[in-house]
Amino acid sequence: MKAFVFDLAKCNGCYGCQIACKDEMCDNEWLPYSLPQPDLGQFWMKVTQETAGQVPKVRVNYEPHMCNHCADAPCMAAAPEAVYRREDGLVIIDPIKAQGNKALKDACPYGAIYYNDVLDVAQKCTGCAHLVDRGMLPHCVDLCGTYALRFGDVEEFGDELKDAVQLTDAAHGGLVYYLNMPKLFIGGEVWDPAIDECLIGATIQLTCPDGNVLTTQTDGFGDFWFKKLDAGKYALDIVVPGYKPVHQDIDLVTSLNVGDFPLEQA
Ligand code: SF4
Repeated sequence: MKAFVFDLAKCNGCYGCQIACKDEMCDNEWLPYSLPQPDLGQFWMKVTQETAGQVPKVRVNYEPHMCNHCADAPCMAAAPEAVYRREDGLVIIDPIKAQGNKALKDACPYGAIYYNDVLDVAQKCTGCAHLVDRGMLPHCVDLCGTYALRFGDVEEFGDELKDAVQLTDAAHGGLVYYLNMPKLFIGGEVWDPAIDECLIGATIQLTCPDGNVLTTQTDGFGDFWFKKLDAGKYALDIVVPGYKPVHQDIDLVTSLNVGDFPLEQA
């Protein structure tokens, strides 16, 4: 059984995998697995972009999406005569048998299937089965310059997959795993209005919902960050010698810029 593993911490949003899919699939017919992907409108590999936080404390998260090659695939259940699962786990829409089946597009709950009106066929990622058959990597994996995207036998990834998540319903499962899914952050800034300067090296404490206390120091711009947080109720404490302490309760739902804290000299 094969696996695609996306390490989101290594994805820099270059869109190389998305372009690689176009490069391999547009104008190319890879029978028995696929007819050409249209130049426009279809993304069998699609990178999504999400901006977290508020200006100026923002982070951009990138997430590649493709067919999950579900173990129990709803598309297969909808058209068993046209969709099949190979022994290596890749789910294939037969481009001849699926001709004219427009309803197949809506059978995928993850939006991975497109309908090609020109060729009159439902289409999606094949996992580059034509390359895998020749012992090669799917083209998106091959062109990922940061090794964020990997492909291989599931056993090759060993313990790594213990920390991985799948974006499919548990009942569907599949071959696609994600590592380092983005979490939430709290960012802010500390400064002294009396001297109009940011405070460098100030100690900031964050009490987590489980009572654990995280500590960080402000950087050269007076900025502080707490990353990889879960949603929940936090308490922020800014205690800097020579200044009045500041306390703020935070109900963290999305990544948050708590703004700047002008500290009053004690
Ligand atoms: Fe089918 Fe969608 Fe699952 Fe892919 S992600 S196997 S298209 S149901």
